[in-house]
Amino acid sequence: MDDNDKSTRHRNRMQRKKEVVDASIARADQDKGLLLVLTGNGKGKSSSAFGMVARALGHGMQVGVAQFIKGRSDTGEEAFFRQQPGVVWHVLGEGFTWDTQNLERDIETANRGWGVVREMLQDATISLVVLDELTYPIKYGWLDIEMVLSDLAARPPMQHVVITGRGAAEALCDMADTVTELDDVKHAFRAGVRAQNGIDL
Ligand code: ATP
Ligand code: MG
Repeated sequence: MDDNDKSTRHRNRMQRKKEVVDASIARADQDKGLLLVLTGNGKGKSSSAFGMVARALGHGMQVGVAQFIKGRSDTGEEAFFRQQPGVVWHVLGEGFTWDTQNLERDIETANRGWGVVREMLQDATISLVVLDELTYPIKYGWLDIEMVLSDLAARPPMQHVVITGRGAAEALCDMADTVTELDDVKHAFRAGVRAQNGIDL
């Protein structure tokens, strides 16, 4: 086959591919508030969610962030986004259960936090709600999954919600429009590198 044939075949193949892609783009003609779940053991769940916060702010949208497990208060995303006028930032958790070692208190804290989230889920002026590390209080049974699902279902139709955390409940994934499982192929921490500013916090 000479070069001319090769390039004609390539052009034809690309043309067919373009028709398929164009057809599927034309088919996706709905708008709706999406529920996204970012789960799995790999790095990138919260940072992906905060990437969407940046996107939303770029469109002039109002954003609400709720952090359920408060690991640290010195993250770059918190320092940056707290300064943005379009963002309300709530820290609702206290830390992992092995830090607090008080189940009643964990349950109470999580449910008080959910009250704050519910208000955001009833506020149509907030276009994007990030529920960072929400999977844990659900997994530990601090928050009733049915309550979470029904509040999510009752939110304004155009409001987007992003949920992060490992081990997302099946019922949450079933309800979600987009579910991404991040895979832990390799992480620098296991090679002895501590968390780095700008990458890990
Ligand atoms: P990120 O905030 O970087 O997007 P994440 O939300 O996916 O991470 P978390 O479980 O919330 O992951 O953990 C947050 C911190 O733990 C970050 O500093 C991250 O780099 C680190 N981390 C995430 N996944 C792993 C892993 N598989 N092994 C070691 N450290 C991890
Ligand atoms: Mg995270």
